[in-house]
Amino acid sequence: MNLGVYIQVPFCQTKCTYCNFHTGVVAREKYAPYADAVRREIANLAASGEISTLRDAPVDTVYFGGGTPSLLEPSALAGILDALRRNFAFAEPVVRDSVAAPQINAAAPHLEITLEADPETITPEKAEAWLAAGFNRISLGVQSFDDRELQAAGRMHRRADIFAAARILREAGFGNISMDLIAGLAQQTRASWEESVARILEIRPEHISIYLLEIDEGSRLGKESLAGGSRYSAETIPSDDAMAESYESACARLADAGYEHYEISNWGLPGFRSRHNLKYWRREPYLGLGAGAHSFDGTRRWSNVHDSAKYVACIESGATPREQIERVTAQQALDEELFLGLRQLEGIDLARVEKKYGVNLQARIAALREQGLLEMNGALLRLAPAHLTVSNEVFVELLG
Ligand code: SF4
Repeated sequence: MNLGVYIQVPFCQTKCTYCNFHTGVVAREKYAPYADAVRREIANLAASGEISTLRDAPVDTVYFGGGTPSLLEPSALAGILDALRRNFAFAEPVVRDSVAAPQINAAAPHLEITLEADPETITPEKAEAWLAAGFNRISLGVQSFDDRELQAAGRMHRRADIFAAARILREAGFGNISMDLIAGLAQQTRASWEESVARILEIRPEHISIYLLEIDEGSRLGKESLAGGSRYSAETIPSDDAMAESYESACARLADAGYEHYEISNWGLPGFRSRHNLKYWRREPYLGLGAGAHSFDGTRRWSNVHDSAKYVACIESGATPREQIERVTAQQALDEELFLGLRQLEGIDLARVEKKYGVNLQARIAALREQGLLEMNGALLRLAPAHLTVSNEVFVELLG
């Protein structure tokens, strides 16, 4: 069993209009104490008996997410990775013939270390320092190539920054880059969406994520949209049908370009699926460190206090930052197997799940199969590829 580690960096330069994550815009002086606290949490946790079942598992994926982890100084990011290396066993790094052409055997374990970064935060010096620290995968928060959409979303970067960031990362030697797009941003039209998809395919990152905009009622955009106002261009948010069409057209174009659609929102060139994120969908263990980070050891889930100032204060005072621990019941585990597992387009081994939980799911599945929303792919049960945009409705029905 291998272990994934997630490091949460909950700081952003500005708050995007659609975002309601537990992230904040704080003074830069707060970054270093936060990184120190994460290093201490790593050492404290490794020394405690709390994670005895995970303690000796080799770490094969590390993911710095946020927020905007690339805001931290490269030395602070390297310090956190060093603390991990000192306190946990690490899997072997990927073997490469050259940095531009990684020789990845998709079946063999290798170490994947990802850093989420915003395009405008990337400089050649930072990119080189990240590579030297051990990061071998960069996930760029692109979201759109249209400046009007980026501005309406409250993003700091513009189209030109994305091309510049991709060039800097390639020149530094990164051979594994992920980029994401959001279908349904305010100001988005079918033409501007097609343009974003064309430009991402022109850059040809190894991995692409495409999300449908979910309007969180607690976000600035959500509140404006509910009130029927026009700030943040709320009145230009595309309809659900338009979003679904954008997603479906992207599915076709990415398939033509050689990307494997392996999860509802994720595509990779062969050998470049996100190993870290696969752990979430497969219910494999991961350790979350930092404010608000979640962990799962196979039987328990727990999370740290969300507020970054409280998190730092907890660590500095020697208290545990963990605030919620729950043992996963058999029913919860079964539900997770279904709704997390079915996010993977290959599907799940229905017989294995039925045997593991001692249940017969045929009656629950029958109606959804009759409606064409679920289908059997050999022994695997999967979402029907033509209906991925209604996956949430399928999960609601299935979990009943
Ligand atoms: S960068 Fe990400 S986490 Fe930060 S405000 Fe924007 S969407 Fe939210």
